[in-house]
Amino acid sequence: MRTAADIRRANAFDVIRSLHAAGVAGRRQLAEWTGLSVQTVATICGELLETGLVSEVSRAKAATGRPTAQLALNPEHGRLLGIDLAETYVHVETRTSALELISSTELEIDLHRHSPRQIVARVREAIEAETATDDLRPFLGVGVSAPGQVDRAGGVSVFAPNWNWRNIPLLEMLRGAVNAPLYLDNPLKALVLAELWAHPELGSQDFVVVNLGTGVGIGVALEGRLLRGCTNSAGEWGHTVVVAGGRQCRCGSRGCIETYVGAQGILQTLREVSPESTLLRGDDQAATIRALRDACAAGDEVAVETLERTAYYLGIGLAGIVNMLNPEVVILSSWVARDLGEHLLERALPHMAAHALTTPLLAASFRVDTSADDSVSMGAAAFALEGYLHSLSNATTVDSVPTLRTGTSL
Ligand SMILES: [Zn+2]
Repeated sequence: MRTAADIRRANAFDVIRSLHAAGVAGRRQLAEWTGLSVQTVATICGELLETGLVSEVSRAKAATGRPTAQLALNPEHGRLLGIDLAETYVHVETRTSALELISSTELEIDLHRHSPRQIVARVREAIEAETATDDLRPFLGVGVSAPGQVDRAGGVSVFAPNWNWRNIPLLEMLRGAVNAPLYLDNPLKALVLAELWAHPELGSQDFVVVNLGTGVGIGVALEGRLLRGCTNSAGEWGHTVVVAGGRQCRCGSRGCIETYVGAQGILQTLREVSPESTLLRGDDQAATIRALRDACAAGDEVAVETLERTAYYLGIGLAGIVNMLNPEVVILSSWVARDLGEHLLERALPHMAAHALTTPLLAASFRVDTSADDSVSMGAAAFALEGYLHSLSNATTVDSVPTLRTGTSL
């Protein structure tokens, strides 16, 4: 059940996300955008100004002639690390406390070297590259996104099927790599946060982010609130069966959608369409997916057939999401979507129309996240920032409502 403190915290995140998206804004604008009262926004801003995370940048002349304070997130308050640990790479970004990108490091992960010790060594290497700078701003938090199911509170990777990891104490193994609190979650949750920070208007909507990478899954937000489920595994759509008795999945089941629309599934389809295809780049999933993208754009028959077959399963899977959740917006995200999303979405539409109920399908809009940014890292940095704010509110005034200082203009 949501407590009063949860609601206050959610309101504070709405205000900060709007401020982040706008760059600079006054309290009245923030109240308009978030739908909160001016008084509530003023209270939240007062608290944030005291933490140093928000600063007053200027005063603008309002219609009444009275100058109003313009606020912005303060990038000098500190730094955040966002870590996207995926099956084939680790991408680490350093961002300011205003979530502006400072730098990033990406290292490949060998599919055959996936013991916890080997992967953690790779992550530490990437963190070292990011932290060896003269920047004196302290690290406020580190967000780690790891594939599969995770136990956030314990910092444990509960089950990562592509690495066959079970109950690996990931955060414990990363301890000391950087002097800041670590926060663990998975890419599905990180993608929802990344969308909420980039598009705060989604904060009141029902939306779904479909993660298309080596693994697949969905992040779900209902009225802008992230759906976790009772064991934080909501959104494991990748293990929804679309073909009874179909391809063997690493989760132990058969015919899961991940085995058809995940990167390895697409490679398998390509091998079925043309076993000797020159588009195949051995085990290199990213290179094969890029080759498919380019060949499809050039009208190559093998590539087109591979994408047609993939889009068939994707369309059925998306129809299930539409029927079950009735979302307003569905966003295809992550690296496979960046390369193949437009090709796949266009071909999936007729299959969606054949399998989804008409009313929810017509109400849903679909798009591909084509931003060059690593959205999972951005989301991971955002949960580090939210974790930092959470720790501040726990340490100080979570249940008290600070009074507005006199002289603060709205
Ligand atoms: Zn499965």
